[in-house]
Amino acid sequence: MPRQSKDYYAILGVSRDASQEDIKKAYKKLIKQWHPDLHPENKKEAEEKFKEIQEAYEVLSDPQKKAVYDRFGYVGETEFSQQGAGNPFEDVFKDFESFFGRDVYDIFFGERGTEERQQSRRRAGEDISITVEVSFAESLVGKQIPIEYERYEKCEHCNGSGVEPGSGYQTCPRCHGTGVIREERRSIFGVFVSTRTCNNCGGSGKVVKEKCHSCGGAGRIKKKVRMTVNIPAGVSEGTKLRIEGAGNAGYNQGPYGDLYVIVHVKPDKKFRRQDDDIYAEISIDYIQAILGTTVKLDLPTGSTTMLRIPPGTQPGSVFRLKGEGAPSLRTQRRGDLYVTVNVKIPENVSSEETRLLKELARIRGTDL
Ligand SMILES: [Zn+2]
Ligand SMILES: [Zn+2]
Repeated sequence: MPRQSKDYYAILGVSRDASQEDIKKAYKKLIKQWHPDLHPENKKEAEEKFKEIQEAYEVLSDPQKKAVYDRFGYVGETEFSQQGAGNPFEDVFKDFESFFGRDVYDIFFGERGTEERQQSRRRAGEDISITVEVSFAESLVGKQIPIEYERYEKCEHCNGSGVEPGSGYQTCPRCHGTGVIREERRSIFGVFVSTRTCNNCGGSGKVVKEKCHSCGGAGRIKKKVRMTVNIPAGVSEGTKLRIEGAGNAGYNQGPYGDLYVIVHVKPDKKFRRQDDDIYAEISIDYIQAILGTTVKLDLPTGSTTMLRIPPGTQPGSVFRLKGEGAPSLRTQRRGDLYVTVNVKIPENVSSEETRLLKELARIRGTDL
């Protein structure tokens, strides 16, 4: 039998409109009941059940996953990291890196202490997320998608420092270069002295003489980015692709953030994916089911094949087409395609058909 889409509600024994409270209650009860240690005689089955209950709860207790499941009947979710070995995204990343160049830190400070303080103010840029949409077939074969988005890039004029080149730094006028502000409070008990970090220079003791004319001192500038993203074969709804360094430029020459490309797979009328297997249904005439036939079958990737239906095929029979499912995102190994055959019984028959069917009934000894 093929694996069907799991009914998480049935697994937890709750109705489709059960509250989060009810779902949690049902889960707690079942997870105790099916703990594999409590079933030494059929441990394997208990483990299976235990896992299934956990899986169901993981989806139904998470409003986002639950919404996806309620809509599509399954939850596809894969975090796909840019750094993996042999990963199809690597090329895009390399291009990106050579295009934008590596960060080069220029040291503007003579004194060591100040430089360290400056470094501590470096901060990575924000990550950016964008969503792309692919058809079901495209999710199986992959696609190059041109994208366009806005991000902050390091200001080239000041190399991200925010300082107008050639202007350099001057001693902070507020703290006179000490980096701290001294405050005195007089009371009847005497004079209290406290110190705090100077907020004019952030404790560095130096301030920019002249802010960068190009970025106004921010060190980064908003720019439109156009690039082509390689959506690898095997992505499913919600797959996240990370492109390292394609997010916003950092602060004070900190590193770039990352770009997350979130894939939305348009649901297909004919095909439904569950893990790496795909499910479809076809209908044949009852006479074809009895005598056998060959039908043209649409494949999920958009091509077609001929499917042989043997004589005597029963309604609801499932045919498995090995390797015609979805490729695994990580291994690219393909799942299978399961085709359920529905048998159409005619609702209206002509008088001649009726005559022939009655004749058949007589030959088969079928009571009418
Ligand atoms: Zn200062
Ligand atoms: Zn600048």
